Amino acid sequence: AEPAIEDPFASLNPEQRAAVEHDIGSQAPRPLLVVAGAGSGKTNTLAHRVARLIGAGADPQRILLLTFSRRAAGEMSQRASGVLHRLLGRGAAARTQAPVSLPWAGTFHSIGARLLREFAGRIGLDPQFTIHDRGDAEDLMGMVRHEIGLSRTEKRFPMKGTCLSIYSRVVNSRDPLDQVLQAYFPWCAEWEAQLKTLFGAYVDAKQEQNVLDYDDLLLFWAEMAADPVLGAELGSWFDHVLVDEYQDTNRLQAAVITGMKPDGRGVMVVGDDAQSIYGFRGATVRNILDFAGQFTQPAHLITLERNYRSTQPILDASNAVIGAALERHAKTLWTDKVSAIKPQLVLIPDEAEQARWVCSRILEQREEGVPLKSQAVLFRAASHSAALELELMRRNVPFVKFGGLKFLEASHIKDLLALLRFAQNPSGRLAGFRVLQLIPGIGQATATRVLDAVGESSDVAATLAAFPVPARCSVEWQAFCALYARLRTPGLRWPQDLELARDWYAPHLERLHDDFQVRALDLDQLVALSGGHANRESFLAEITLDPPEATSDRAGPPLLDDDYVILSTIHSSKGQEWKSVHVLNVVDGCIPSDMATGNQDDIEEERRLLYVAMTRARENLHLIVPNRFFIKQQSTMGDRHVYATRSRFVTPVMLKHFEESAWLSADKRELRTPMPDSVRMLVRDRARNAWK
Ligand code: ATP
Ligand code: MG
Repeated sequence: AEPAIEDPFASLNPEQRAAVEHDIGSQAPRPLLVVAGAGSGKTNTLAHRVARLIGAGADPQRILLLTFSRRAAGEMSQRASGVLHRLLGRGAAARTQAPVSLPWAGTFHSIGARLLREFAGRIGLDPQFTIHDRGDAEDLMGMVRHEIGLSRTEKRFPMKGTCLSIYSRVVNSRDPLDQVLQAYFPWCAEWEAQLKTLFGAYVDAKQEQNVLDYDDLLLFWAEMAADPVLGAELGSWFDHVLVDEYQDTNRLQAAVITGMKPDGRGVMVVGDDAQSIYGFRGATVRNILDFAGQFTQPAHLITLERNYRSTQPILDASNAVIGAALERHAKTLWTDKVSAIKPQLVLIPDEAEQARWVCSRILEQREEGVPLKSQAVLFRAASHSAALELELMRRNVPFVKFGGLKFLEASHIKDLLALLRFAQNPSGRLAGFRVLQLIPGIGQATATRVLDAVGESSDVAATLAAFPVPARCSVEWQAFCALYARLRTPGLRWPQDLELARDWYAPHLERLHDDFQVRALDLDQLVALSGGHANRESFLAEITLDPPEATSDRAGPPLLDDDYVILSTIHSSKGQEWKSVHVLNVVDGCIPSDMATGNQDDIEEERRLLYVAMTRARENLHLIVPNRFFIKQQSTMGDRHVYATRSRFVTPVMLKHFEESAWLSADKRELRTPMPDSVRMLVRDRARNAWK
């Protein structure tokens, strides 16, 4: 019998449907822009469109889907599969069908890395290039800065991190250096000439060492797309280019799209200008505003006004916050989700009480039937959750934290990855320098000489083996050379490389770190992660571009199907939703951040950030205002307590949208449960490694 066919598009509203059906069946679908507020179903519509396209015969291999994180790409593929299966029928055949795989779904950076590897030979890149993460890039900038003598002659010259931020801003915004300095780094403007020299040398160093930084992945891709021949060829790989969260793309990303698809054929982007929160990285809402005129044929615009996520009171409060923005976002969102529960503004004495209150509230809600997984705690900066993390651990509430994890910054992870990178790309001096110095008896001077020799040689393994190292390290050296030769063996099956590297590293780990057992678990995690990758290059690229972002309580890591609370920076919460959301530290100095208090644009971006946080909530929203919290002063005065005030974004007139509750004193009599040993270990371990 014919399987029952269900219309998976029946639930869509007319505007969403119009976006899904836009120019379906046409050989040349016109460019489409969907601008709509939070929770209006933009991402959902995009997923339905992908399914609709495939249902109408589009080849999934020829669909480029650009999202904000790897997780988002995975979720979108899954949603699209679900829709497609319903579209194709619910018979047994549909049930056994594997999910559609969208090989070209990912972030701009990871897709860029893949394309560059494919095209490397034709654009003057060595396909064995390695990718520098932000930390590596800073280190290289620091090395170059030192080499050209700036750190010696110019004592007040900007730090390597600032130099890299300036460089990155110039590259991503495509604005000239002097303008970027004037607008964002006025205190560095006097160094313009020196910065030019520095950036030139930095670019040369990257090229010599065959490394690309994050910005290069976009830059080379955009340059490639801008070339008439390569751009057309790239464009011909894809029939459809779909982009989520378009408000957070920068000039280079827009150039990538227009370069590949000058007529906008098959291009669909969705976004919300009110949720633009990556201006600090050079993203610009101009991309949305200019979209219509960017292609050789005009773009079609669809707006969505119905919100399906939040209750009316939550929407009212969020609209009040964004409605006060200097730049008006003309959007009316409505919902039919009535509710008597207003968002709560919770006034609390200090951060410690905040942590206790939030933890209690989370447990209460669980008692009321809201699983932990439907609850999230959001905050402005990754460090803001420290007190809460302790409290959750103390009370045995499992949690997973997104954003801000410094997995890649731990020295043992860096060591192991550096070894793999050095095997892949022997010209990468940063990786080489790090690895060589793991060998006892080899210091900076010897490492430098080894790398100089490697740089000149065509057979690196042989050069290493023949290098006259000091006699006291010859045994270790031979072991290293043997390992290196194996890692360079063509045809080595992945992840054998990683296992070999780990086994070689194990005794060094033990020698270097007292807590080697704890650290060894991280290395196991790395090996576990390697499973999803075809080869070393793709593993290294992905881990660098999209490192594992969830830390799990090492004392008892929550399994994937366990129940756990989500802790997340607001930036990482983009696009997601939970039944209940707590926003920590809704005070001036946190939101807006004290880093931003100078410039009007920055303040407005902080307002949108609060809007993003609030619009993650489906039913319950709590904004917490501690009256006293610890703030790190940038000056020489050191840390001090500041009496914070409620965030300026929650003005007195807005209070009518909130229910205010003061929670003034904790129940001091409550008996504190003692911390398990494993927790103490974890905290100590984290604290001790925080600076590394
Ligand atoms: P954000 O701006 O936060 O990224 P969004 O516009 O992408 O939000 P979605 O995440 O796609 O919104 O959708 C928000 C919620 O509304 C989801 O739970 C989604 O399943 C639901 N939703 C979207 N469209 C419909 C619809 N037509 N009928 C029922 N639910 C819908
Ligand atoms: Mg979305």
